[in-house]
Amino acid sequence: MKRTVKLPADDRRNGWYEILPAQPESQPLVGDATTDWLVIGGGFVGMAATRRLAELNPNDSVMLLDAQRIAHGTSGRNSGFVIDLPHKGDLEGPDIERKKKFIGLNRAAIRWLEQLVTDNNIDCQWSHAGKLQGAVSERGVKFLQHFQFLLKELGEPGQMLDGAALKQKIGSDYYQQALYTPGCILMQPAALMRGLLATLPDNAVCHEDTPVLGLEQRNGLWRVQTKTGVITAKKVLLGTNIFTEQLGLLKSRMLPIMTFASMTRPLSDAEFKAFGGSDDWGLTPADYAGTTLRFTRDRRMVVRNQYRFVPDYSSSDAERARIHDQHRQALEARYPQLAQLPFEYTWGGVCTLSSNYTSFFGELKPGLYASCCHNGVGVARGTISGKLLAEQASGGDSLLLRDMQQVSGMPARIPPQPFLGIGVKARLKMAEWASRSEV
Ligand SMILES: Cc1cc2nc3c(=O)[nH]c(=O)nc-3n(C[C@H](O)[C@H](O)[C@H](O)COP(=O)(O)OP(=O)(O)OC[C@H]3O[C@@H](n4cnc5c(N)ncnc54)[C@H](O)[C@@H]3O)c2cc1C
Repeated sequence: MKRTVKLPADDRRNGWYEILPAQPESQPLVGDATTDWLVIGGGFVGMAATRRLAELNPNDSVMLLDAQRIAHGTSGRNSGFVIDLPHKGDLEGPDIERKKKFIGLNRAAIRWLEQLVTDNNIDCQWSHAGKLQGAVSERGVKFLQHFQFLLKELGEPGQMLDGAALKQKIGSDYYQQALYTPGCILMQPAALMRGLLATLPDNAVCHEDTPVLGLEQRNGLWRVQTKTGVITAKKVLLGTNIFTEQLGLLKSRMLPIMTFASMTRPLSDAEFKAFGGSDDWGLTPADYAGTTLRFTRDRRMVVRNQYRFVPDYSSSDAERARIHDQHRQALEARYPQLAQLPFEYTWGGVCTLSSNYTSFFGELKPGLYASCCHNGVGVARGTISGKLLAEQASGGDSLLLRDMQQVSGMPARIPPQPFLGIGVKARLKMAEWASRSEV
């Protein structure tokens, strides 16, 4: 059962995590253990699944394991947009009913998270700020017009802002136009993840810094290997995203793609005045290979761009140093008045893409469930899929669960290396070139 698995090894430069107050020491699991339910991976999927299992099965024990600290993985190092609308391939598709299902699922995630944030006083900058999608060039403007048309078809509001109106909001005249959609939530992802962890129900326990090395089914029970022992569980739910393939499951179906972010220190009062915009907003690029910006309530600027194919799921210090310089260029192009403002942190995070833009959700083997491959926008979808996976595994049924099953499927097979690497790198380069004006 013990396999040689690549384990998560995220860099220690995630600004969202590093600016939190010191966290309590982790409590890794030592030795053998038994639990009714085991969840592996504590990102948005695994955290939601753990909570829901514990709610639905109050007399059962639920254990969550993560190889790292909670919020140290991708779920704590993203840009913090909880997006209600279908994204990228999901918005472009022809099937309106399918798109409405995505909206229903994403909004159910937002309602649930909002209730948890409110009930538990989770301090994570939760904000109904909505989302700006900004276009720099004519190419970007054409994308925005197309998106506005697609939103109209869905009966969803989308307000076009011209460059002047946008400048008042974001303090930069770099963009020609932006499409504003009001239903997106902004938040501090590491603070949200740590808050969700701290408020899990009493029958759920989480062991951080406890990597899983393999699993097998014997006599109807799952035996899960850690570095120091074996955990026996009746049912296992996987929230391990790309690392699912390391456990021998859904192999050669997910593309490991890393994207990167940098965070400044908070602006001083004088810098904020020179900046000339308001705080608490988020902007994604009209052209997807462009730059995402967040300006937080505590007046930090967060810049995200660049994609890399990462078969080892990690990036080097040298790579992040190059990315840092590209983020500087993006920041200074938009805010020459902030040219002296340093980045305090630059980090990367692994996302999964599938070539048919399809996520996996459901039972992989008897008593073994997974939800993964949310194509780079897994905050809302990861949350609702984790919740619904727990409901399915507990024998539940609902319209929302059926919607999730209908919009999910099997990520298509991908070619083996080295063909995969060559193909993906070429595609990323082409996308980068086509959207160079938006970066
Ligand atoms: C820079 C950046 C910006 C992004 N911005 C956004 C955004 O604004 N909005 C949005 O919706 N999405 C965004 N994303 C994508 C989003 O963060 C992911 O889709 C989402 O976090 C996926 O959640 P998950 O729970 O499926 O997986 P993950 O967050 O990857 O969680 C998997 C967990 O499993 C653990 N694990 C893996 N293997 C093992 C093992 N063997 N044993 C134990 N534990 C294991 C890992 O440590 C990790 O904590 C962004 C991503 C990045 C990198």
